[in-house]
Amino acid sequence: MDLFEYQARDLFAKHGVPVLAGEVIDTPEAAREVTERLGGRAVVKAQVKTGGRGKAGGVKLASDPDDAVAKAGAILGMDIKGHTVHRVMLAETADIAEEYYVSFLLDRTNRTFLAMASVEGGVEIEEVAATNPEALARIPVDAIEGVTEEKARQIVEAARFPAEIADQVVDVLQRLWTVFIAEDALLVEVNPLVKTGEGRVIALDGKVSLDANAEFRQPDHAALEDKAAANPLEAAAKERGLNYVKLDGGTVGIIGNGAGLVMSTLDVVAYAGEKHGGVKPANFLDIGGGASAEVMANGLEIILGDPEVRSVFVNVFGGITACDAVANGIVQALALLRTKGEDVNKPLVVRLDGNNAELGRKILTDADHPLVEQVDTMDGAADRAAELAAK
Ligand code: GDP
Ligand code: MN
Repeated sequence: MDLFEYQARDLFAKHGVPVLAGEVIDTPEAAREVTERLGGRAVVKAQVKTGGRGKAGGVKLASDPDDAVAKAGAILGMDIKGHTVHRVMLAETADIAEEYYVSFLLDRTNRTFLAMASVEGGVEIEEVAATNPEALARIPVDAIEGVTEEKARQIVEAARFPAEIADQVVDVLQRLWTVFIAEDALLVEVNPLVKTGEGRVIALDGKVSLDANAEFRQPDHAALEDKAAANPLEAAAKERGLNYVKLDGGTVGIIGNGAGLVMSTLDVVAYAGEKHGGVKPANFLDIGGGASAEVMANGLEIILGDPEVRSVFVNVFGGITACDAVANGIVQALALLRTKGEDVNKPLVVRLDGNNAELGRKILTDADHPLVEQVDTMDGAADRAAELAAK
């Protein structure tokens, strides 16, 4: 999960990284009072999850409260690389003498963590890396040892930070590493880290990406989610603990057990869909091993609730959970949805194979649900589901 700059700034502050005071607002008029509180001047910064805001006109200095209202008005609603600005942060202004770059990230290729640092910060670091790779120091960080004072000094020396701020940068690096570890981040980046006219080192812009796999031990992180931007179906699926991803432009709802099977189901449906005017899968949904009636009902509820879905393909390969259990799950799920008053009116194509497939098919045949149709093969079922969606 990527965070907004102001959220990154809050995490920095929590771990003692020096930052400037700021407040987030969503109307231009609110800028007046905040700017007065910040001492009469402010930097107005678009809060969007993309870089290069400065270049795009999303970072502006306001010289007084009226100016802040005008600048906030200009930035709110702006489109930056496809992201609409709904909020701006007003921050204390900094008297910048120099701009640097520092980051910690997971280096998958080398199976380690990596520190990157440069005294040529401010601009996009990809540019520095491309045009002047010497200027970007890369130091591996051992996961167990972490950023000790010694490691921090090594980074400071490799990047050639000026001697008079070396101690401050060493301290900031260790604190940023604490953010990285304590918050289970995949990326902690500061660009620019600045030296002010008075020689103070401050993190002026932060980018943090949190590891979603660590959510279970980071209860506070749920509050950082951008609920407004989340897809409502994905949000509902997440609440029910389902592995669901909405796909754009598709009309065949997909339910399967096992990520690999669901992935190939998407391919097969897309392939079959070409014969039916370009029909595509509407989602990824893996209901996993234990396909109980409840899980099936939850999955069907999400998929049937997608207004774009016109048919549903349930593709199950019985393993530890046998097909008879899945078939019972489907029958009970449809009954459950009816008692809940859900409008079940989309055709379901079901393909059962694997453990106890015969018995599973019999259960569905005996149930004789008007919307359920069985097809024995995956290709055949995909074709039928695509055909029904195209109708
Ligand atoms: P980004 O373009 O999205 O990375 O946004 P930043 O927050 O990094 O801001 C871009 C640039 O605006 C920085 O590199 C600074 O040069 C400048 N900037 C940001 N805040 C201040 C400030 O308080 N005072 C001054 N003078 N410049 C600032
Ligand atoms: Mn920046």
